[in-house]
Amino acid sequence: MESIKIDNIEKGVIEPREYSRNDKIHFSCYPGIGCFTKCCSGIRINLTPYDIWRLKTRLGMTYDEFLTEYTAPASIDQTPLPIVVVKLKDDAEKSCPFLTPEGCTVYTDRPSTCRYYPVGRAHIKKHDQKEMTEFFVLVKEDHCLGHLEQKEWTIDEWRQDQGSDLYDDITRDWLEVVIKAKSLGMTEFSKRSLDLFFMVSSNLDMFRRFVFESRFLETYRLDPELVEKIRDDELELLKFSLKWLRFTMFGEGDYVIADGARVKAKERERLLGEARLAELAVREKKAEEELQKLREAREKE
Ligand code: SF4
Ligand code: SF4
Repeated sequence: MESIKIDNIEKGVIEPREYSRNDKIHFSCYPGIGCFTKCCSGIRINLTPYDIWRLKTRLGMTYDEFLTEYTAPASIDQTPLPIVVVKLKDDAEKSCPFLTPEGCTVYTDRPSTCRYYPVGRAHIKKHDQKEMTEFFVLVKEDHCLGHLEQKEWTIDEWRQDQGSDLYDDITRDWLEVVIKAKSLGMTEFSKRSLDLFFMVSSNLDMFRRFVFESRFLETYRLDPELVEKIRDDELELLKFSLKWLRFTMFGEGDYVIADGARVKAKERERLLGEARLAELAVREKKAEEELQKLREAREKE
């Protein structure tokens, strides 16, 4: 096992067990349970592009308004990839701004992290595998009484009941970018890549301007029907933006684009691979030098 990477969950409260989609948990959460809303303070809630779209749409806000009012900048665990998180209130409990004594005011549009809880989705890279493998964990915090309930679910049943599966489906391409960056151990990106990632991850209004008010449509030869769809339908624009991000950052995807742009994307992929190999070579050289120093120190003793 090389590493466990779980965003926004305190490692100390994670049960030391990997769950698959068919493994079962006992859990129930409902208004009236003794710990109601105790999980909505002092937490970190990473916002995915779909989380933001659902929340800002529900609140009838523009992206700029929503980002200013409800979010703070952060980055995805173990990467420099910039995202936003929910800005907690400045009260003693550091409560979520959407929390009231009656419960969550945005419940049907709550973010993915809240839907999954107390389950966490994670990925692991084993020494003998190129790709990350998905698994799940169970978060057991002392205040959460839901674990004492008898209701039984498989992890997949829980995801479906909470709507997490829909959230994962819509953000699949974005999640692939994040997982790939982690699996490659990428800690450095160009400023342009980080800017594009941030724009697509958090501000669809900005991405719309990027598509329709720049030379974007000259560079990418898109199906005219698709162009009309993303012009008229914000959710379609969101899905398109996530596919495009995956394409532009890792050369993955199925766009029909101008030949020159495809060549550039391929070239970019090749250069990224070369940069990664060069980084590994430097690390290996450094490790060898450290070892040599240790050997010399021992010989002197
Ligand atoms: S969004 Fe709702 S469920 Fe999530 S932490 Fe805030 S109040 Fe709780
Ligand atoms: S049972 Fe757990 S998840 Fe539900 S309200 Fe209580 S602390 Fe939150």
